[in-house]
Amino acid sequence: MNLYDIFQECFPADRSAPFLEIAAGAASGRRVSYADVEAQTARLANRLERLGARPGDRVAAQVEKSSEAVLLYLACLRGGLVYLPLNPAYRRDEIVYFLADAEPAVYACVPERLGEVDAGTAQLVTLDAAGGGSLVDGLEGEAAEFSSFDCDGDTPAAILYTSGTTGRSKGAVLSHANLATNARALHAAWGFSPDDVLLHALPVFHAHGLFVALNTTLLNGTSIQFLPRFDPRDVLRCLSKSTVMMGVPTHYTRLLAEAEFTAERCATMRLFVSGSAPLRTATFEAFRERTGHTLLERYGMTETGMNTSNPLDGERVAGSVGLPVPGVECRICDAEGRVVDPGEVGGLEVRGPNVFREYWRMPEKTASEFREGGWFVTGDLARIDERGYVYLVGRARDLVISGGLNVFPKEVEGVIDDCPGVFESAVFGLPDADFGEAVCAAVVAEGDEPLDPQAVTAFVKERLAGFKAPKKVFVVAALPRNAMGKVQKNRLREEHGE
Ligand code: AMP
Repeated sequence: MNLYDIFQECFPADRSAPFLEIAAGAASGRRVSYADVEAQTARLANRLERLGARPGDRVAAQVEKSSEAVLLYLACLRGGLVYLPLNPAYRRDEIVYFLADAEPAVYACVPERLGEVDAGTAQLVTLDAAGGGSLVDGLEGEAAEFSSFDCDGDTPAAILYTSGTTGRSKGAVLSHANLATNARALHAAWGFSPDDVLLHALPVFHAHGLFVALNTTLLNGTSIQFLPRFDPRDVLRCLSKSTVMMGVPTHYTRLLAEAEFTAERCATMRLFVSGSAPLRTATFEAFRERTGHTLLERYGMTETGMNTSNPLDGERVAGSVGLPVPGVECRICDAEGRVVDPGEVGGLEVRGPNVFREYWRMPEKTASEFREGGWFVTGDLARIDERGYVYLVGRARDLVISGGLNVFPKEVEGVIDDCPGVFESAVFGLPDADFGEAVCAAVVAEGDEPLDPQAVTAFVKERLAGFKAPKKVFVVAALPRNAMGKVQKNRLREEHGE
């Protein structure tokens, strides 16, 4: 069944009710009702068809966050087209790769980028930050009706390229059923109700802001306070009109840095969800102390949507990403795919209707990431406790093997973060003639006080076995992060490798 039709069944009876209320930026004050969603996605689907896009074709969008970008995503669902969002920060060479790999029928970009790349056979259209451009010029002239493409659950709905920190970026093909089942599970697990208003400050080119946030709200038929980007001042302004916020850990640390972020400001809020990157225990605790709210941490990835979540009712455990989402199975295996003993660390594998179909045009890569029985190898290392809570310990490729011994970065980072004068840290391995790999740490100091790298190593040595202590500590001004707040350990390895 077409995901757009599933959403449409949940639209409010009064279609004049708002879906998006733009609360900052070029289109601030604009409102998109559910009636607008129906009419505008029909017009856009008709426009895309006129541009030559047929069911199964890709529609690439490298545009700023806007209500039109959201409507374009929905129009693609409706038309059976495969939506392919691209981070606006990507540079020319990256775009050349994505266009050659995905061969979209339509490529929408910001006007400033026109002429930067040869779009090949794709129809090139523009969409600017204020929602204008050739994609929408004269759109009123298109018919406001469109019959949704009649598809089955396996029909591709979107391709999202993974961040590709090693090797070529891979396009994860997600089906209508992948997205629908995960949205339904989260909608129920997080207790959405007709009174909810979502505060949306995430980008819409990534699964978190695009699927987790938008799809749950569309199933709820309620409204969104829509911010074009995360700015703590804008978020503070919108809080009193909202009940649910989804963010990355950096959003919450940046809110905590604002004196005006108080329990009173959060009076209407019922839920703050955190994910996409590890949430520090210190942030979890500071947030509870300041606001009285316990952050709900969940874990997912582009290829799978959300796999685990701390409970809405029940204990939300600091440092844990929670329990498997209903319908999703999790297991911990060794490198050969044998399930390890309970409580042991190993590779996290998941199975369920949320798991993607394949990597776009990479059958061998797809085959190598799945085990018999449909288990997907996430590449994350984790353990599961006796209550079923999952604890991530790092990406498998970030595991440091020093002198033949495994060092899990998260364990060492947790200790360094407790060292006086440290704000945050990232542990990674560098080649070492003696040990194969040496444990290294990049550390950000708290405040302006200088930090003594040797004191950090000594602090770790008192608390952990010597082989886990960093051989080198680099004091840095900030950790390199991507748009979702994930620390880019490949960059740390490159920068400090010399
Ligand atoms: P992406 O495909 O960009 O969404 O990245 C997925 C990866 O982000 C996962 O495989 C994890 O390594 C990481 N991730 C997502 N959520 C969390 C979380 N709550 N804590 C730690 N890492 C996370």
